[in-house]
Amino acid sequence: MAAAPKIQLDVVTPQKLAYSDQVDLIEGPAVDGLIGILPKHAPLVTAMKIGVVRVVKDGEEIQIAISEGFMEVRPDQINLVVRTAELPEEIDIERAESARDRAEEKLQSSGENIDFARAEASYERAVARLKAAGHNDRSYTTTV
Ligand code: ATP
Repeated sequence: MAAAPKIQLDVVTPQKLAYSDQVDLIEGPAVDGLIGILPKHAPLVTAMKIGVVRVVKDGEEIQIAISEGFMEVRPDQINLVVRTAELPEEIDIERAESARDRAEEKLQSSGENIDFARAEASYERAVARLKAAGHNDRSYTTTV
């Protein structure tokens, strides 16, 4: 039996090549909603939001936390170019929890000098990192 077709996924940040492998499918947070890509997908370019990218390879699943960026898809290649990307084993859970708690405090305060968009983005990054690291011990209010 012929091997199932795969698609090459490269996850790139300004600092590093975060992930590079032949995979079976990915699913991630595009600006218009969750998008799934299989091998031989039609070419497209989309902006990506902060969230978790689910990668399936040989029946195994890997979750990658990403912040905003772009994804370029060709039938045999996905280039995911994002500001930050971390694999579960790279995620510092305590750091993400502190970032989440700081952002939550800001979002709950009523100060005039609070940049809510910035606090919200920081909260979403922290929650995405905790989710990718499998640290789901709280119910989160956003859908990253
Ligand atoms: P913090 O407030 O903890 O710095 P942040 O969301 O502001 O979080 P970013 O600006 O998104 O941080 O990322 C800066 C760098 O630190 C990136 O290289 C990112 O991959 C890394 N990073 C941020 N948070 C974590 C974490 N919890 N675990 C591992 N790496 C992290």
